[in-house]
Amino acid sequence: MSEQVNDAKKQTGATARDVCIHIAQQMSDIVKHTLGPSGLDNMLVDNAGDLVITNDGATIMKESYLDHPVAKVIMNVARTQEEECYDGTTSSIILTGELMAEAKELLKNKIHPTKIALGYQMAAIKAEEFLLDMGIEADEQSLNLVAQTAMTGKSAEIDKDYLADICVEVASAASLDDINIVRRPNGKIRDSVAIRGLLVNGEKCDHSMPDTIVDAKIGLVAADIDIPDFAQTVNVQVTDNSAVKDFIASRKEQLLEISQSIRASGLNTLFCSRQIHPVIIEDLADKGVYVVRSVTRSDMEALSKATGARIIANFDSVAEKDLGSAGLLEEISIGDKPMVKITKTPNESTVSVLVRAPTEHVVDEVKRAFDDAIGVVSIAVEDNSIVPGGGAPYMTLASKLKEYASTVGGREQMAVESFASALEVIPKTLAENSGLDPIDAMIALRQAHNLEDGWKFGVNVNDGTAANMIEANVVEPKRIAGQAIRSAADIASQLIRIQQIITKRPAKEIGDDGFQY
Ligand code: ADP
Ligand code: MG
Repeated sequence: MSEQVNDAKKQTGATARDVCIHIAQQMSDIVKHTLGPSGLDNMLVDNAGDLVITNDGATIMKESYLDHPVAKVIMNVARTQEEECYDGTTSSIILTGELMAEAKELLKNKIHPTKIALGYQMAAIKAEEFLLDMGIEADEQSLNLVAQTAMTGKSAEIDKDYLADICVEVASAASLDDINIVRRPNGKIRDSVAIRGLLVNGEKCDHSMPDTIVDAKIGLVAADIDIPDFAQTVNVQVTDNSAVKDFIASRKEQLLEISQSIRASGLNTLFCSRQIHPVIIEDLADKGVYVVRSVTRSDMEALSKATGARIIANFDSVAEKDLGSAGLLEEISIGDKPMVKITKTPNESTVSVLVRAPTEHVVDEVKRAFDDAIGVVSIAVEDNSIVPGGGAPYMTLASKLKEYASTVGGREQMAVESFASALEVIPKTLAENSGLDPIDAMIALRQAHNLEDGWKFGVNVNDGTAANMIEANVVEPKRIAGQAIRSAADIASQLIRIQQIITKRPAKEIGDDGFQY
């Protein structure tokens, strides 16, 4: 792709469109083999040898070195999909690639790009309309199945029934913002648990500090707790030993004053996102304060939300009104490493999920699958509408759009037909990835869709027959297919209309007026 970046300095007309089509198809090829329950993983490696093993479309897009401007536009499809639905990213990229591949054929038949874009938009709007009438209501059991479908084909799969129970429990108890997911390797997936309250990675910074604080008064400081830098660079003319001693003593005095001023707020627990001077740590430990340092930003935010504490940027100003509270704070050991558990918090809806797995890489991938699963369950709860999986909604929409196309007429009709065919790429890829003959699978599926409850039929990835996906327990929130189709259609019709690709100068080279050389 990198050669094309240079070519991209100026490409016009057919060439520019060829580039867009080519890149969209390449991006689809990167993720295509990961789709569905039999999808395989990608291993992403950087120059430093760091690697990520994943099956997650959004992660592949985020972590892959895709530097062509058109690739970046297409990545927005995956980003939007992830933000809106937490799942379906692979499908959205594959759909974009297929819409572009269909457009290539239309262009060969001399259909003008604006007609293609218009036809695609008409089809997308109609698909949305058709989707309104599809779907069934979600109950607790179907929510569990939604979570399981989202985890199918990922590292979490073997224990997906167990994890699905946790997903439904927490998604029903709290809003997504109040759910904190923490990872810990060196354990079994089935050791994963949900708790009411907050789990924070970290440990007390002095062994003499208590392991338990009842009625915690919690301060959150997002700064180094030390004598400020500007006050440290003093030049001291040392004339004798006592002057050195005085200087050291006065520094210690200042550090103790800092500790004293922090304690004056009334806190007995302190979380600091940066470092703390050892003299201050020692003094706080001495006075029974529980202190954790190097706390991550996301943990600081979660602490603030759960306990009601305000994050202070300047330790001088820690005051009683900024403190949060919790009925109980305990330092517990999980996977041979400590972790802080905070319960009985003012925000009662705070829940945490501790995700366990044998290794760092697996725990990361299980967390990603779990994030998606919790997300989709919350969407299914929000929209109260689920549809069969296995490509079923794409098949239904494809056949409805084909009927609709005949009423459209003109050149746009061909674009609507192509759009309908493009949707079939999802069931087709599911069949292909399972080692099945995609043509046979599609024939079986089309026949099944002629039946009265044909809309429930998707690809049976075990034998290539068409199966009732509701009976097979493969269900997903309707929003996933809806959003994937909408984003893919938007980006494809945008790319198809591109007449020129010109490499833009970096923003920093352009002055305020935008024309400065
Ligand atoms: P995405 O990033 O698009 O969610 P996935 O790899 O998660 O990609 O695959 C999702 C697709 O796999 C959906 O179309 C879903 O319906 C389908 N799927 C999941 N489980 C099954 C199954 N057991 N049988 C058939 N299709 C399935
Ligand atoms: Mg998925």
